[in-house]
Amino acid sequence: MNRVKTDHLGSCKFCFSVSELHQLPLKMGKEVVFAGRSNSGKSSVLNAITGQKSLARSSKTPGRTQHINFFSVEGSKFLVDLPGYGYAKAPKTLKKSWENLLTNYVTARTQICGLVLIMDIRHPLQEKDLLLLDVFLPTGKPIICLLNKADKISKQRFKGAEIKVAKTIQFHSANFKVVSFSATRGIGLAMARKTIIKWLEL
Ligand code: GDP
Repeated sequence: MNRVKTDHLGSCKFCFSVSELHQLPLKMGKEVVFAGRSNSGKSSVLNAITGQKSLARSSKTPGRTQHINFFSVEGSKFLVDLPGYGYAKAPKTLKKSWENLLTNYVTARTQICGLVLIMDIRHPLQEKDLLLLDVFLPTGKPIICLLNKADKISKQRFKGAEIKVAKTIQFHSANFKVVSFSATRGIGLAMARKTIIKWLEL
């Protein structure tokens, strides 16, 4: 993995998790939210970005996978791990309630200063990714799409995947980046960290 300075993100710690929005403390600082399909590598991406091997293990603890998990950076700013969506085996009603939690969160939360959308580079823009983009894009807030597992395809194919995603988003927002990424190889890591550090004003 690339040796990139983790800056302030390295001090990130698991703070708390909630399953309903009314459980949230009223006063909180800026947040960067992480969203993606289950198995897109969201936990691995969070670990890579913070330079911590098992930070996002807390999100995988049984009982917490359907929660919104908060990781604090420098005390008052947060990386927020939203529940992974599109898990095929989950009951329909449960899936619907996760989706509602997710869409309510990204639209209602004024503290959000940016969205990190994680997609498998081989299968970007699945139905639920598009649903999330549909609700988030009107907020006008910035997005970085991390096309994860880029180590699974040849470098020559990175650009094609990036263009496909960019073409979909560019009609709705000028405030986005699309980056080929690999949590395991460190591809795109410096750009992802730089973007998050800027959004959170660290
Ligand atoms: P989550 O369910 O979205 O949190 O995904 P995980 O982080 O648990 O990863 C799901 C699977 O994808 C695991 O087997 C990971 O080892 C694998 N994975 C995650 N990121 C990468 C990556 O960048 N490259 C490769 N090849 N595999 C990855």
